[in-house]
Amino acid sequence: MSDRKMRDATLAELSDLLGDRLLTSAESCLDYAGDASPASGGRPLAVVEARTVEDVSAALKWASARQVPVSVRGAGTGLAGGACAYDGGLVISLAGMTAIREIDPADRIAVVEAGAITADIDRAAAEVGLMYAPDPASYATSTIGGNIATNAGGLRCVRYGVTRDSVAGLEVVLADGSVITTGGRTRKNTAGYDLTGVFVGSEGTLGVVTAAILRLVPRPVDEPLTFRASFPSMDALGGAVSGIMGSPVTPLVLEFMDAATIDMVESYRPAGLDRSSAGVLLGQLTGVDAEEQFAVVETAMVAAGARKVERASGERGEELLAARRLVTAAATARGPEYVCDVAVPPSRLAEMLEQVAAVAGRNGVPISVAGHAGDGNLHPSIALPDTSVETLDGAERISDEIAVAAIALGGTVTGEHGIGSLKLGLLARQLDEPTMAAHRRLKAAFDPLGILTPGRAV
Ligand SMILES: Cc1cc2nc3c(=O)[nH]c(=O)nc-3n(C[C@H](O)[C@H](O)[C@H](O)COP(=O)(O)OP(=O)(O)OC[C@H]3O[C@@H](n4cnc5c(N)ncnc54)[C@H](O)[C@@H]3O)c2cc1C
Repeated sequence: MSDRKMRDATLAELSDLLGDRLLTSAESCLDYAGDASPASGGRPLAVVEARTVEDVSAALKWASARQVPVSVRGAGTGLAGGACAYDGGLVISLAGMTAIREIDPADRIAVVEAGAITADIDRAAAEVGLMYAPDPASYATSTIGGNIATNAGGLRCVRYGVTRDSVAGLEVVLADGSVITTGGRTRKNTAGYDLTGVFVGSEGTLGVVTAAILRLVPRPVDEPLTFRASFPSMDALGGAVSGIMGSPVTPLVLEFMDAATIDMVESYRPAGLDRSSAGVLLGQLTGVDAEEQFAVVETAMVAAGARKVERASGERGEELLAARRLVTAAATARGPEYVCDVAVPPSRLAEMLEQVAAVAGRNGVPISVAGHAGDGNLHPSIALPDTSVETLDGAERISDEIAVAAIALGGTVTGEHGIGSLKLGLLARQLDEPTMAAHRRLKAAFDPLGILTPGRAV
């Protein structure tokens, strides 16, 4: 039998199992090839638009039997190339499994399918006065399954923790098609290994998440108190972050932008940022004692050298913070960019910013930096003249230099975007060989044939 006939015959078997949930046309396959990163996707054999856990199980049994590589996909907003398709592989898309099955105020949990959009879950929780706390900037479009697989972070994570801290249990389909459940809806649970923790952040390499039990928290009812402060140097800004995080106050939000980011935002849409400053810190405080919290935060910022401190609530408060939310749009308007993602202990933020400036100087490229100051998570953005392969390769090398500098400061090569296919070599620089070997053994235990997202993340 010719290769083509063989391919058609095996796809016909899968089509019998999945019907119209299997897409094989070249255009459909192209739609699912890449993600939001510069990584290029391959040409998959077919795409499964799963509607049920049984669809996912049938697809994985089929792929296992034929050792076809599988990529897993939510909304494709990932920035690490983790969801890119493999040449001749199968794409399993969870984007059609969007049900929010339950919001339980007494247990403070939500039960959702993996393709539910994160902002929709938060909105459903808000109807009963609760909140799904992790809020990646992409939360209006990314899926909860993708957030879980990348252990996504967001603005509110400095107060409430990252996605990992909000996941109580999972339904997962393993590479052989078997379905397992982890965790549960209790607040405490010491039974068995913490398999939930194993799957969170596993970037589609250990199993396909089909449903999740999420922890919800009471939604703050009072207006947040927003503050914004400008600093004469990034060293002073870093000192302010250490002062705030070393105090009894945990802000709801604590973000920063450097001078290049301030310039970029102000050129895109004036937001009242101090263009003469080296950097700005933006934050929000909530609670009945927000005023007392602000007094502590202001003292820490002034002691570190803050030049100008603004504060407001209500609409004006949201305006102060809006400057930070403009960064992505302003960068897109500026032209092509390569977004990096590293994290260091918050007390080492200033040192990391110095390292980024040194990398920019060494390579003669403009790099602007913004990020989640309270989490020590930086997103240096390399402005690109074009998106040619050479330019992107160069940017990847510069991103690697930044990641290596983060490791030297006790940090990590990725704070929230994941390793995917872009940072593969860097994991081995962060972890020692016995730890890498433990990763490989875990991968082999869940996916002995190596069909799930092969060659990525670990
Ligand atoms: C404008 C913009 C802003 C962003 N802001 C943030 C931010 O603030 N914080 C942040 O953390 N990230 C951010 N991101 C990155 C991205 O949105 C997150 O990584 C998000 O969690 C990806 O979700 P997704 O549904 O798009 O997943 P995809 O991109 O489809 O997949 C991402 C990874 O998860 C795996 N995966 C997806 N679904 C499943 C599943 N059901 N089971 C197993 N594995 C699965 C994929 O294989 C892949 O490895 C941003 C991206 C953009 C474009």
